Amino acid sequence: MTNVQRILVTGGAGFLGSHICDRLVEAGHDVICLDNFFTSQKTNVTHLLDKPNFELIRHDVTMPVWLEVDQIYNMACPAAPGHYQYNPIKTMKTSVLGAINMLGMALRCRARILQASTSEVYGDPEVHPQPESYRGSVNPIGPRACYDEGKRAAETLFMDYQRMNAVDVRVIRIFNTYGPRMHPYDGRVVSNFIRQALAREDITLYGDGSQTRSFCYCDDLVEGIIRMMNGPDDLSGPVNLGNPDEFTIRELAELTIELTGAKSKIINEPLPADDPTRRRPDITLAKDRLDWEPEVKLRDGLAKTIESFQSIDLSAYRPPTPNY
Ligand code: NAD
Ligand code: UDP
Repeated sequence: MTNVQRILVTGGAGFLGSHICDRLVEAGHDVICLDNFFTSQKTNVTHLLDKPNFELIRHDVTMPVWLEVDQIYNMACPAAPGHYQYNPIKTMKTSVLGAINMLGMALRCRARILQASTSEVYGDPEVHPQPESYRGSVNPIGPRACYDEGKRAAETLFMDYQRMNAVDVRVIRIFNTYGPRMHPYDGRVVSNFIRQALAREDITLYGDGSQTRSFCYCDDLVEGIIRMMNGPDDLSGPVNLGNPDEFTIRELAELTIELTGAKSKIINEPLPADDPTRRRPDITLAKDRLDWEPEVKLRDGLAKTIESFQSIDLSAYRPPTPNY
């Protein structure tokens, strides 16, 4: 293969990071996966360990690291509300110090760097669906702020490194994504519902379930991420990546019950503070500039995810450990 790149994936052992590593290793690139395993398991990448073009480093992005690379996918950050609220100060440090350390490396190496930002920068949106031009409605002092504001500050850093130092940056805003290798105890809705249904437990619907999300299957998202990294030179972003098919959370619960054949009951629990009421990406920009749009329907992606959850040993997973 020509044009082999040395590529760093921070958070590379996580749900999305490990799928990115798979794609890059398969394409023949020289891949460094860096992770502190706060919310992930080594098992997400053990199948890559004997590949000559894959390296695994245990490291925390809040600390500087010296590597020589051509591209950086900055994915490191806890993403599920339960995980990022576990130690909110650390979450903010991971977003901000992690961005500074990785941008410093990109500057020194003249590497292109992609930031995994999030639809959470839109907060509880007053504009629907959300285009990139919408500036968001985030509560800066609520329980989600460590993540939302951390990611917003990281976007600011990316754009300032570009303006001040001409660093070649890319920013994507990822909307709810699901699939195999999600942490089964991350508390996110897809993993919770599937785990509960398979264990014949009650399905915990927060609030009345009328809030909406738009769910993207991981393979579609990773295709979009890789296209963005290798896309047009003038496309720094931010660019929304997600599936515009919108569902209520109640619909998701009902579909999970149907696809698992579970006898679970749906029970209502209180809605967490600042839980966004609606969320759907406007992906016009990604369609126009990256020729990208998701292909996998929720029903099909959910079936694949259920199948993967059926084959995992839940006793091998534990909640995140303290990580100060
Ligand atoms: P994940 O928790 O599975 O992956 C995050 C990875 O980062 C884990 O392997 C974790 O151990 C690692 N990590 C966390 N803090 C770190 C630190 N300080 N140093 C080194 N590694 C650290 O979550 P994910 O869903 O794969 O999310 C990956 C990225 O995508 C995150 O930045 C997240 O904010 C973003 N994102 C994800 C979604 C989604 O729906 N999955 C939506 C929006 C944004
Ligand atoms: N949710 C739910 N039951 C659960 C977990 C989540 O009803 O067991 C709801 C949650 O309140 C939110 C939606 O599902 O409205 C998506 O939650 P998730 O934590 O997956 O992602 P985020 O809120 O960050 O989009």
